[in-house]
Amino acid sequence: MPTHQDAPDADRPASRRPGAPRRVAKHRSSRRSFTRRTQLIGLTAALAAAAGTTAVGLTSDAVGSQASGTTGLSPSQAGALSSARVERRDLGSRDASRIDLSLTSTKQAQATKLAQQRAARLAANATLTQRRALALAAAKAASARKAAAQARALAAAKAAAIAKAAAAPKIVLPTTGYHLTARFNQAGGRWAHNHTGLDFAAPMGTPVRSVMAGEVIQADFEGAYGRQVKVRHADGTVTSYSHMSEFDVSVGDHVEAGSQVGAIGMTGNTTGPHVHFEVLPGGGAPIDPEPWLREHGLNP
Ligand SMILES: [Zn+2]
Repeated sequence: MPTHQDAPDADRPASRRPGAPRRVAKHRSSRRSFTRRTQLIGLTAALAAAAGTTAVGLTSDAVGSQASGTTGLSPSQAGALSSARVERRDLGSRDASRIDLSLTSTKQAQATKLAQQRAARLAANATLTQRRALALAAAKAASARKAAAQARALAAAKAAAIAKAAAAPKIVLPTTGYHLTARFNQAGGRWAHNHTGLDFAAPMGTPVRSVMAGEVIQADFEGAYGRQVKVRHADGTVTSYSHMSEFDVSVGDHVEAGSQVGAIGMTGNTTGPHVHFEVLPGGGAPIDPEPWLREHGLNP
């Protein structure tokens, strides 16, 4: 490793032959001395003053001949001048690199701008999607509210129907404002056999009602029973209403509990206005109406 200041020049005999091609790479050796750096700075300044920036464009030979021939520089100074040229070239190269970097920066800026524009479009689309989602959710909520309201209305209607059905009597007594004058199986001179029903005495014309819902299966005169209406109920039980003054239903009519079927009268074998009420399970033999009515929640 040389320690002398001029050692680098001593290592390059080629630099001492004017006009000989120089390998610029050799001048970028790390072994360049401090003195040569000083010379380089001075020569670079001189070269810049004498030839301006055109020095950068000079060929290696031109610089060499100019350095050693025209300016009368020593070989070491000529070498330094070449180094200056190389330095300029390096600077130029670095400038080119800066331009490349600058171009890269411009491209990056453009890419960034495009990315930002894309992001803005995506954000706009996202906002639109969000609006649509919100609108859809609102519509769904409205639909749900509507359905809930309909369900509530339906439930209320059902509850009202149930309440009405509960309020409507399932069974009623055959007439009103009455008093019982004869009970079931009671013996008496008016009957060929023991009494087959329950007598509800009431003023003439008082409405007589079907005790339960059912179908009218008779509405006619029936001997000693006078005007008689029979109603068959859902369970097959038949109820009979006799001695009436009028018919308010016809065979085949559907009646509800409480529907008027006739009126208190004295038709048939009777000593006073009343309705002779019978209960015939399955349309067969009559049973005592009182416990049957009580079983259905009524106390005549
Ligand atoms: Zn009777």
